[in-house]
Amino acid sequence: MEELAIFGGTPVRDANHKIYYGRQWIEEDDVQAVADTLRSNFITCGPKTEELEKKLCEITTAKHAVVCANGTAALHLACLAIGIKPGDEVIVSSMTFAASSNCVLYCGGTPVFADIRPDTYNIDVEDVKRKITDKTKAIVAVDFTGQAVELDKLKKICDEHDLYLIEDGAHSIGTKYNGKPVGSIADITTFSFHPVKTVTAGEGGACMTNDDELYKKLHLLRSHGITKDSEEMTKESEGPWYQEQIMLGFNYRITDFQAALLLSQLSKLDKFSNRRKEIAKIYDDAFKGMDELYIQKNIPESDTTRHLYVIRLNPDKLKCTRREFFDALYAEGTCPQVHYIPVYRHPYYERLGYKKGLCPVAEAAYEQIMSIPFYAALTDEEVNDTIKAVKKVCKYYAK
Ligand SMILES: *Cc1c(COP(=O)(O)O)cnc(C)c1O
Repeated sequence: MEELAIFGGTPVRDANHKIYYGRQWIEEDDVQAVADTLRSNFITCGPKTEELEKKLCEITTAKHAVVCANGTAALHLACLAIGIKPGDEVIVSSMTFAASSNCVLYCGGTPVFADIRPDTYNIDVEDVKRKITDKTKAIVAVDFTGQAVELDKLKKICDEHDLYLIEDGAHSIGTKYNGKPVGSIADITTFSFHPVKTVTAGEGGACMTNDDELYKKLHLLRSHGITKDSEEMTKESEGPWYQEQIMLGFNYRITDFQAALLLSQLSKLDKFSNRRKEIAKIYDDAFKGMDELYIQKNIPESDTTRHLYVIRLNPDKLKCTRREFFDALYAEGTCPQVHYIPVYRHPYYERLGYKKGLCPVAEAAYEQIMSIPFYAALTDEEVNDTIKAVKKVCKYYAK
């Protein structure tokens, strides 16, 4: 059997050509767009930001967009806009990045973690139902790896119990659910434009909504809660300089050169999306028949622009631990990552009183999953090397 690189064998990819789980795809036209904006009159929150908001509405068919500093700020703005306050409970997916529930804590609310489905790793609708109380105000559902959550069922639950649906779409720009783009369906959908996400602004985020009142709040909260719109003012204008702070907002603005970068990236969203779909299909086909691995289930309702590619180890067919598999794959030069530690397993959340055992399906998944290199700029050779490395490690440790 071929010796693993971790034990001195030849790695699939040598140390100078290691690939990581995600990265941006920046081309000369992106650089030019940023440079052009830096030479213009506006470098923060100006015409490029407005153009970007229009473009996001066009792409998602949502009525409104509020672009902001990052995906975490977008989630915070969303919780503020729907009025989360101390005493309120918000049901959050347990298998996500901490920002999805930190936003509830920022507002003094209580995150209530729902378990995930064992096949898609998205929030389990039945567990959501079990966790609704008379204090529940909203659900934060995460489109894990870009696959849309069961939006029709979640919307129905929200209608029945008078809850807001916030969709954390940090992974899912470009995804469609039953033919409708993500961003146009939930009360508020948030996006992140961090460099590992499908399109990037360096740092950036957005809130999408069809609701005029929520839009007004999101827009005000992004910029200190200060308005220059006479219709929103409560007092008589004192002159051309006059503005009013009418709520307690933040400075969550994005710069215009970041907006220019994202506009340039969005002009290539179809290209990025198609390449991501293509690679996901190649991986699915390569791993489908293997007993050692489980691959994520694709639900037919979601036409997914994949953000991450997660493999799950089958402990009945592998004699290694997840750690051993991870380290072996890393040494082969196709470096994995783990998404995610269930949020409430972090020490900060434990100190708040959340206990192990809360979401058993998420905890079991966490023990066995890892994300393999997956981004639009991967070459065919890199995709093939990743498959080769995964198969090599599986073969070595097969029971
Ligand atoms: C990346 C991410 C965020 C946070 O976005 P930032 O832009 O990094 O602040 C939130 N939720 C999920 C699921 C993410 O993956």
